[in-house]
Amino acid sequence: SNLLLWRWIRVHPRRVKTSSLLIALLYLGNICIPGVHLPPDPLLPMWNTLLVVGCFMLAGRPWGWISCAVAIAASHWLLTPIDMSTYPNAYLTIWSCLLGSAVLGHIYVERFNYFFTQLEYYNQQLLRLSTVDHLTGALNVGAYYAQCNTQLANCQRRRLPCAVLFIDLDHFKKVNDNYGHAMGDHVLQQVALLLKSCLRKDDLLGRVGGEEFSVFLPGAQIPDCNTIAERIRASIEAQVFAFNGQQLRMTASVGLTWIELPAKNTQSIDEIQQQADKAMYKAKQAGRNRVCHFDPQRFEEMAMQ
Ligand code: GH3
Ligand code: MG
Ligand code: MG
Repeated sequence: SNLLLWRWIRVHPRRVKTSSLLIALLYLGNICIPGVHLPPDPLLPMWNTLLVVGCFMLAGRPWGWISCAVAIAASHWLLTPIDMSTYPNAYLTIWSCLLGSAVLGHIYVERFNYFFTQLEYYNQQLLRLSTVDHLTGALNVGAYYAQCNTQLANCQRRRLPCAVLFIDLDHFKKVNDNYGHAMGDHVLQQVALLLKSCLRKDDLLGRVGGEEFSVFLPGAQIPDCNTIAERIRASIEAQVFAFNGQQLRMTASVGLTWIELPAKNTQSIDEIQQQADKAMYKAKQAGRNRVCHFDPQRFEEMAMQ
């Protein structure tokens, strides 16, 4: 029955508990049936220790203790027809073994749960460290593009439009030069918070350069993404950044590209980002603190509709 269990767990790794309990019943039967048909054996109930340990390990603590109680009852049942006068300590030995196995199983599961919780916690931490920019809390470049590609494939499959905004802070170098690097960091953190507050749950925000952020808007129609881009620009302009007794105001140039239906397999996030990049440079050239569209003609047509 242990071999059967091993085979079952390999084939159905997600159904360990149910299958373990079924096999535990089979195992119990394997012990009890020889007890009836074979010559009396006072050591036979000792096999139940494996049942108890197995139930703790594979089905959890409640089932472990239930199996211990069942094993003690089965042991008594198996020993009833045997003349126990020559084995005065047999009951004590069997009880001790079964209860000892149960306590060990309980401790093992407790330790296992502790290490598993720790592992989960550190995995979460590693995931956060490898995907999130530590200064701003936005996604880092690698994670942002990876998640954009997933969302883009999703838009392609569901035939949804999407948009990318490229936000570059204006004259940010002067902030560092005039107010210090710490003030520059503070501005970046505040801008990331502002950007997050302007976005929906499914939108992606990445820090793709020193003072450059990119936003991916899955399923956004042209009026929506224009509203969001304008809201972002205006909220950065309206914010007073205060740090260490100093105050300053910032503006940002925003490049916007909108893809009506992402073309399957031909359009990657790199191409779309490049379009948003070009639109952002147009905004810089046009005097900064504005939103520019990659394809203004199409944008106007859609806005008219
Ligand atoms: P433009 O309007 O043309 O975009 O000018 P700019 O000064 O914003 O652009 P530029 O690319 O010349 O400068 C970007 C600056 O951002 C330079 C760099 O010192 C600063 N920077 C990059 N990363 C960080 C950071 O993590 N913290 C701080 N404080 N500054 C940063
Ligand atoms: Mg820049
Ligand atoms: Mg800049």
